[in-house]
Order: sequence, then C-alpha cells, then structure tokens
Amino acid sequence: MLNDLIPQALHSDVNQFLHELMQLGQHVPTHCPYCQNQTFSQTRAEPLTFRCKACLKYFNPLTHTPFNRLQPVAWLTRILCDRVNRKTYQEIADTLDCDIKKIMRRDKAIKKQMQLHFPDVYQWYCAHNDVAGQFNTNPINDALSAQHQAFKQKLSEILTTTNSPCLYCHSPHTVKVGQRATFRCDRCRRGFSLLRDTPIMRLPHADLWLTYLDLLVAKHSNYAIASQLCMNSGTIGTWRRRWCYTMQLWGFESLAIWCQRL
Ligand SMILES: [Zn+2]
Ligand SMILES: [Zn+2]
Repeated sequence: MLNDLIPQALHSDVNQFLHELMQLGQHVPTHCPYCQNQTFSQTRAEPLTFRCKACLKYFNPLTHTPFNRLQPVAWLTRILCDRVNRKTYQEIADTLDCDIKKIMRRDKAIKKQMQLHFPDVYQWYCAHNDVAGQFNTNPINDALSAQHQAFKQKLSEILTTTNSPCLYCHSPHTVKVGQRATFRCDRCRRGFSLLRDTPIMRLPHADLWLTYLDLLVAKHSNYAIASQLCMNSGTIGTWRRRWCYTMQLWGFESLAIWCQRL
C-alpha cells in the first residue's frame, strides 16, 4: 500500500504500523489486562478470547487498547489505506456498507495508537487528512513533485508538437490549428486532436494550463485559482475533475489523488 503520497522518510514507520495493525487480533497477551495476573486460559479461538484465573474476567488481545471492541481488525488497515488515498469517511462507509460513525471511531483509534508509537507518522497523517475544507498543510514530497514535473513535461510535448501524421489516413500532410494540439489533414480533410480520449481535449485557454497545474498542485482553491488566472470561477470549477482524470489516464495516480480535493 505504500505509495508516492507518503513521504519516503516515513515509509518504514508506516510499514511497521500497518504490520502491527494486522497482527492486533492474533497477539496472545502476557497477562490479564485487568489484574496483571499471568495465568489465564483461552476460551475461544474466533475471536480469540481468554479468561483470567485470578479475577475471572474475560478479555481479548484488544482489551485495554484503543481498538477495544473495534472488530473486525481487517477494517483498520483498510481505513488507514483509504485515508492515505484521501477518501472521505462517507466514501469509506459506503464501500464497507456501514454507518459513517463506525469509520470515524476507528480512525480516531488509529490516530491515538499512531500518536503513541509513531508520532512523526501521526503528524503527517493528521495534516494529510484535514478534509474539513481546510488547507492541506503537508508540503508536496519529492515523489509527487517528480510526477508533477513529468506530467507537465508530457503535456508540454503534446502542446508543442508541430507535426503529426493524420490519425485517420496516416498522411503526413497535416496542418496544426490553434493552441490545443489540434490538426487538420490536407488529404482526407478531417480534424483530429492529440488530446483525444482525454477530458481536457476541448478545455479552453490552453495558454493557462501549465500555470493552472502549478496552482492546482500547490493546493489552491478553485476560487483562488480563478482569481489568479482572471477567469470565471464557474469555468475553473469543472477543471479540477477533468485534470485529475487526465492524470489518472496517463498513469499519474498519486498526483491525481493529491489534487482531487483540498
Ligand atoms: Zn485478571
Ligand atoms: Zn487524413
């Protein structure tokens, strides 16, 4: 699950934390969490349950941890991964077909455990998931920055292409028309775009696209971008989705996730 959205420096900590989450329900405790007595017996295997021989209380590996009663354990890693991929609580609740409160309670427990054992990951995770309409406070990391540059490079190459054989009749005699990588064939008289099959094919203001991408990656709101580019905010409102979808189509998935919402 480790991806470009997580800073390289945190990869091993996140890996370790995920590993611990996966082991949670299977770990046999060394003592009773209520009275610390070390003699107890297993009463059930699924879910793993024990009974203390001193205080006679039942307990399981999650008793007295932030994850008490938060079965199934498999949901925890799932929620963590989805949150890294910037899914909202509602989106996760919809895929797991449960109440949003269940997701929020589990994420809260994940954060609590993270704060205790992996404080650096905790700091990053909280800023990464600040989706209350707030500015995301994490700076862009190197891997995403590289994707940003590569995406712009690919786009620039397409936009500055001056010769392209006709997509229909393969004739080399074509003429470029306008700014958006659109060509017209002299032989079959048909028009074609190098951006066909992308949602940005008919997007206006191609001269502003690269500047727009910088603002988008820098996490500016639609409104802020519109005012900086002197464009109508209604027009710019549809851009984010189209650009993110184009990033996905071209294989820049992490960049698309980074840009899809503030
Ligand atoms: Zn006990
Ligand atoms: Zn042609």
